[in-house]
Amino acid sequence: MHSRIIGLKVIGSGPAAHTAAIYLARAELKPVLYEGFMANNVAAGGQLTTTTDVENFPGFPQGILGQELMDKMKEQSVRCGTEVITDTVSTLDLSSRPFKYTTEFGSESNVHTTDAVVIATGASARRLHLPGEEQYWQKGVSACAVCDGAVPIFRNKPLVVIGGGDSAAEEALFLTKYGSHVTVLVRRDKLRASKTMANRLLSNPKVTVKFTTRPVEIRGDDTGFMNALLVKSTATGAEEVIDANGLFYAIGHDPATSLVKGQLETDADGYIVTKPGTSLTNVEGVFAAGDVQDKKYRQAITSAGSGCMAALDAEKYLAEKFGE
Ligand SMILES: Cc1cc2nc3c(=O)[nH]c(=O)nc-3n(C[C@H](O)[C@H](O)[C@H](O)COP(=O)(O)OP(=O)(O)OC[C@H]3O[C@@H](n4cnc5c(N)ncnc54)[C@H](O)[C@@H]3O)c2cc1C
Repeated sequence: MHSRIIGLKVIGSGPAAHTAAIYLARAELKPVLYEGFMANNVAAGGQLTTTTDVENFPGFPQGILGQELMDKMKEQSVRCGTEVITDTVSTLDLSSRPFKYTTEFGSESNVHTTDAVVIATGASARRLHLPGEEQYWQKGVSACAVCDGAVPIFRNKPLVVIGGGDSAAEEALFLTKYGSHVTVLVRRDKLRASKTMANRLLSNPKVTVKFTTRPVEIRGDDTGFMNALLVKSTATGAEEVIDANGLFYAIGHDPATSLVKGQLETDADGYIVTKPGTSLTNVEGVFAAGDVQDKKYRQAITSAGSGCMAALDAEKYLAEKFGE
């Protein structure tokens, strides 16, 4: 019989973290969730707080604003009994048990402990921070074709995808369903995408691949939406303005793994490795959920699903280890 309270912490505040917290709270494990304070440059609530309408999360037939969806998730995890702390976990030591951590607003000597932890710190899409990008963000500029491609502003309009890898190819092909034409800008003189994807892209009549070309400036009109892109040849330096009502970055994501670097196994792209079909990491008692461990799907609903898995895995672990 243990004589102390078992500690269980969730780090993060996106769909993965709040779903994990809802399940853990309902299992009476009294989770404490650190939602971060502009952690990794993202507001509490995660990536969906940076978007407008979310139309593919089940349960909201009319769509829902990203911020509102995250407010509702937080409200639900609090109502179920989660303690939400507005602070960023700044260090996490997984080398001994219980695990130790400190937070940004706490002093360095204020070391907390936990017996199990769910890492749901998310990821952020890489952007180029071009002139005009802030002004036209979500007004033509996006970092997720699957999320935003279907919105009316892109229908039958010329669109641009930036990137030369498999995701860029996939996003461009996806966008051909909506746009009048899709131009893919590739910095180098060849695609990094697999041969199959590259062939599908190059043979699609609705796609033009512009090699050795980089974007320079996003331009718009008095309606407040983007309508053109200034591009430059990396070979000749020649500049050109192309019509574009949408610009989609497909140049990769950075998973937020600085807390666990060198402590948890990560793959070549820095994503936390979980045992297939579970949320288990290579350290017992540490579970990972959401975009921080998923470089393939990266959607709110898949993040929520993996948050549920992490909670059920953590619950089983605590029951076996501590009889909780
Ligand atoms: C512009 C945009 C639009 C999108 N639209 C859609 C859409 O329409 N539909 C859809 O399904 N998906 C959409 N996505 C993808 C979706 O937002 C993500 O897949 C999802 O949010 C990932 O959830 P997550 O729980 O892994 O974490 P995230 O949403 O990435 O949130 C992680 C949170 O953890 C916090 N955090 C990080 N480190 C710490 C720390 N050390 N301590 C405390 N907190 C920390 C961060 O601040 C962040 O708030 C969109 C993404 C973007 C960028």
